[in-house]
Amino acid sequence: MTNFFLPNTMPGLSPGRVWEVGIVGGGPGGLMTAYFLQKMSDVPVRVTIFEAADRLGGKIHSKRFQLASASYEAGAAELYDYSGVDEDPLRELVAELGLSIRPMGGSAVIMGGHVLSSVEDLREHLGDAAADELVAFDRMGKDWMSPREFYDADQPELAARPLEGRRFAEVLDRLRSPSTRGFIENTIHSDLATEPERTSVSYGLQNYLMNDPAYMTLYSIEGGIEGLPRELARRIRADVKLGHRATHVGRGPDGRMQICTTHDAEAREQEFDFVVVALPNNHVPSVTFRGARLADAMARHHAYYDHPAHYLRITILFSRPFWRSRVSDSFFMVDAFGGCCLYDESSRDPSEEHGVLGWLLGGEAALKKSALSDEALIAEALGSLPEMMSGGREFFLEGHVHRWVGAVNGIPGGIAQQPVDRRHQPEPVEHPDFFVVGDYLFDSTINGVLDSADYVASWLAARMAEQPTL
Ligand SMILES: Cc1cc2nc3c(=O)[nH]c(=O)nc-3n(C[C@H](O)[C@H](O)[C@H](O)COP(=O)(O)OP(=O)(O)OC[C@H]3O[C@@H](n4cnc5c(N)ncnc54)[C@H](O)[C@@H]3O)c2cc1C
Repeated sequence: MTNFFLPNTMPGLSPGRVWEVGIVGGGPGGLMTAYFLQKMSDVPVRVTIFEAADRLGGKIHSKRFQLASASYEAGAAELYDYSGVDEDPLRELVAELGLSIRPMGGSAVIMGGHVLSSVEDLREHLGDAAADELVAFDRMGKDWMSPREFYDADQPELAARPLEGRRFAEVLDRLRSPSTRGFIENTIHSDLATEPERTSVSYGLQNYLMNDPAYMTLYSIEGGIEGLPRELARRIRADVKLGHRATHVGRGPDGRMQICTTHDAEAREQEFDFVVVALPNNHVPSVTFRGARLADAMARHHAYYDHPAHYLRITILFSRPFWRSRVSDSFFMVDAFGGCCLYDESSRDPSEEHGVLGWLLGGEAALKKSALSDEALIAEALGSLPEMMSGGREFFLEGHVHRWVGAVNGIPGGIAQQPVDRRHQPEPVEHPDFFVVGDYLFDSTINGVLDSADYVASWLAARMAEQPTL
C-alpha cells in the first residue's frame, strides 16, 4: 500500500504553505481526485484519503474463483470508449497508467428461443411489423441525439431537447409491437438498472444508442478492471487510511474543514484546507454534515440525485465455455429477469480454458432477487439459460453472488442538469472549501466520475496556486 506524503517543500518554490486536502472515499472518484490534483498542482499538497473498507477501488472489484484461477468482475465490467467521437480522458488515463486493454462487443439478444443479432433476424423470427418498428425507433433515437450530442450530453444546454423531462416509458408506450418493445427492453435493461417509468427519455435513449459503435465502443483492462484503481493507488502520494469510516464533516474549531472518522471503534478527527466527499449518492447520508447551512445543502443535494437503481451479479464457473457454439461475443442479452446481460467473463482472457458466465440483473429484478440466498440465485441463473444452452448446466463448478442494491443512479445528473460548479459545490457561500465528486453527477459511469474528479482537482489546483505561500 502506497502511504506517504508529498514533500513539505518542492524544488524551486519558496518554503511556504503545505495545503492539506482530505478525501472521503477510496473508490475511483477519490483516487482520481488525488491523482489529478497531484498532476495539476504546482504547490506542495498533503492528501489524506479515508476509506471505510479494507481495500481501495470501491465498485471496481476484479475477483477469482476458488476452484480455478479464472477471474471475473464483481462490480463494474466494461469501460466506455468515446475516442471515435472526440477526446476520451479515461482511455488516455488507462494508457498513461500502462494498462493493456481488450475490446468488448456483443449484438445478440436471445428472445423466444432465437438468437437475434440483426434486423434480418428480427424480420425472420418476430415478423415484418416488429422489424420495421425497430428500424423506425432506431432512426428516431439517432435523429434525437447524434454521436456528438451524446458525447456532450452532460451539458445543461441539452435540457431543452424535445421530450426532455419525460419518462422513457412514454417513448416505449408509443410502440405498437410488443416484440419490438420486448427487444428494446431486453437490450438495455441491464444497463439502465431501473425500469423505463423510473428513468428519463434521455438516459433510456442513451442506453439504447450506446449499442451503436458510432456512439461508443466498449473495452476492458487485461487482468481485470481493478488494474485501474490499483495503478492509481501506486502512483498517488497520499496518506491512505483504510478501515476509516467518515462519520462527520463540518467546520472545525480552528475554522478549517474537519473530517471525523471511526477506526477500530475509535473516533478521530483531522482538519484540512479542503475536503472532498467522493461517495456515491447512496452513501452520502452515512455522513453527518455539521452546521445548518451545510447540513441543509447536503440534504437537498442528496434528495436531488436520489433515484436509486439496482444491480445484482450472479457469476458462474463452468468447466468449459459451452455457449460459444451459439454466441461468441463478449456478452449477449437474454429475455430472463426483465432483460438480462450475460457476460462471457472468460472471453477477457483468451488463455482461459474454463467458461465463466456473469448474469447482470438490473432494476426491479435485481432489487427483489437480492433477498434470496446465494444458492437460490445460482439455481435461478442456471434455470434461466436459454433452451439452446441448457445442456451446459452439467458443466457447473462454482458460483458467486454480488448484490448492489441502490448502488447506482437511475436518473444520473438529476432531473435536470445543473451547471457543473453547482453540482460539485452544494454550499459555496460558507463552505467554498467543500466539494463533492461522484458519477451520479454525470452518467453513473467511471467516465463520469473521472470528469467529476477532473473538475474538482482543477478548481483545487487553481485555488491553491492563487495563494501559494502563507
Ligand atoms: C454492478 C455494477 C456494474 C457497473 N458497471 C459499470 C461499467 O460496466 N462501466 C462503468 O463505467 N461503470 C459501471 N458501474 C459504475 C461504477 O462502478 C461507478 O461509476 C464507480 O465505481 C464510481 O466510483 P466512486 O468512487 O464514485 O464510488 P464507489 O466505487 O462506490 O467508491 C466509493 C468508496 O467510498 C467508500 N465509502 C463509503 N462510505 C464511506 C464513508 N462514510 N467513509 C469512508 N469511505 C466510504 C466505499 O467503501 C467505496 O470504496 C457499475 C456499478 C455497479 C454497482
